[in-house]
Amino acid sequence: MNIHEYQAKAVLREFGVPVPRGVPAFSVEEALKGADELGGPVWVVKAQIHAGGRGKAGGVKVVKSIDDVKKESARILGSTLVTHQTGPQGKKVNRLYIEEGSAIDREFYLSALIDRETSRVAFVVSTEGGMDIEEVAHKTPEKILTFSVDPATGIMPHHGRRVAQTLKLTGDLAKQVEVILPKLYAAFTGKDMSLLEINPLVVTKDNKLICLDAKVGFDDNALYRHPDIVALRDLSEEDEKETEASKFDLNYIALDGTIGCMVNGAGLAMATMDIIRLYGMAPANFLDVGGSATKEKVTAAFKIITSDPNVKGILVNIFGGIMKCDVIAEGVVAAVKEIGLKVPLVVRLEGTNVDLGKKIIAESKLNVTSGDDLDDAAQKIVKAVKEAA
Ligand code: GDP
Ligand code: MN
Repeated sequence: MNIHEYQAKAVLREFGVPVPRGVPAFSVEEALKGADELGGPVWVVKAQIHAGGRGKAGGVKVVKSIDDVKKESARILGSTLVTHQTGPQGKKVNRLYIEEGSAIDREFYLSALIDRETSRVAFVVSTEGGMDIEEVAHKTPEKILTFSVDPATGIMPHHGRRVAQTLKLTGDLAKQVEVILPKLYAAFTGKDMSLLEINPLVVTKDNKLICLDAKVGFDDNALYRHPDIVALRDLSEEDEKETEASKFDLNYIALDGTIGCMVNGAGLAMATMDIIRLYGMAPANFLDVGGSATKEKVTAAFKIITSDPNVKGILVNIFGGIMKCDVIAEGVVAAVKEIGLKVPLVVRLEGTNVDLGKKIIAESKLNVTSGDDLDDAAQKIVKAVKEAA
């Protein structure tokens, strides 16, 4: 789960991490009130969307008068921001963050994430702040320092010294690094974050180290421990289909293709996506209904797939083990009865209760093509979609 910048900064502030003062705003009036409270003389009007690259897209403006706070707030709020992270359709701005302006001397990059290879929290640090770290990693990898933290000892003073050295910070600024780093680590582990990206971390003209931007994601599997974080969820930022799927505990990810897939097991789901590609089309989603899905869960899953206007055909691929083929068949039939079926459907069932599953589909009189195996099923759905187009 992701949260907005202003929420991330509030979480960091709880842990004593220095961030600029700011006020979130849902309207121009609130933005003006916030600006007045902050006092100026410089403010930053920041679009709050779950995507980076706002600055280059006009979603971050440094202003020097209340008039300009008003002008920029009115311009940004309600507009659709297209950044390199939003995709071409962009994201509508429903919230602003009005912040006190900082006089920047230098900008750095700092992030923390889970390194799955070492099973540790890793830090990535670079002098190249305000830039895409992917680009820095590609063009000037020598400007990036990475290290992981032993969970038994946590952050140690030597980590701080290494970061300070990498950022060429000495004296009091080096001390500030050594103070901030354990606080960031405490926030990361304490809140079960999966990503914490500060880009830029800045040194101000009066020699203060502060986090000017913050992008934070959390481990969904640990959210039950953090009701305060769950309360920050902004559903308007999430794919509606994915939100619906999460209600039914389905592993669903929306994708760009045209073939909707309903599969049991993540490995089989990925193989199914690959084979659709092999035959020249692309999957509209990843969906693993899991091993213990009920008829209601399967019905919900099928509805989510058919509600996607990009879906031009559906492939159901079930290898029944714990999951029984008749449960899948009942779910598909129930969903189609309720909402109809406007696109071709190919079903491949194999394994536990396969005969019963096939019987349920045959007796439903649905317009279903059955596939003999994965290969056959994938070829059939691709052909059917091409013919229907
Ligand atoms: P992003 O573009 O979505 O990553 O948004 P950021 O919050 O990182 O802002 C983009 C850029 O705006 C930063 O890299 C800074 O250069 C600039 N910026 C943000 N806040 C301030 C500020 O308080 N003062 C000044 N001078 N520049 C700022
Ligand atoms: Mn940024």
